[in-house]
Amino acid sequence: MNISHIEHIGIAVKNLDESIRFYEDVLGMKCYSIEEVADQKVRTAFFQVGDTKIELLESTDPEGPIGKYLEKKGEGVHHMAFAVKGIDNALAQLDEKGIRLIDKEPRKGAEGLDIAFLHPKSTQGVLMELCEDKNKS
Ligand code: ZN
Repeated sequence: MNISHIEHIGIAVKNLDESIRFYEDVLGMKCYSIEEVADQKVRTAFFQVGDTKIELLESTDPEGPIGKYLEKKGEGVHHMAFAVKGIDNALAQLDEKGIRLIDKEPRKGAEGLDIAFLHPKSTQGVLMELCEDKNKS
């Protein structure tokens, strides 16, 4: 596994526009992108903090993953994403080690990254995401 940094931290929010205002007006960050990821039934907003991004996630469907998460746990930190080189290889290695994978193969996430989630039952309760920007690596 070749993890270079924390690519982003995903935070589930009820109201994206209100949350953007908090990050901008209170924390002084600048939202540089808002994107809907239909596949995951979310609307996302991104902020850059050094090498790491904050990804706010608002549900567009109560039956989607973030909709269900908000219903069960409310707002808060949802997942942590590591930037890796060679995501296919990384997934194969994890699979070999018996780690439960939500995505056995990478799929397309926000910002055109290849992403895959690891099951929190295998990662001490933290929903982890691997991502790779294949345009960069
Ligand atoms: Zn993410």
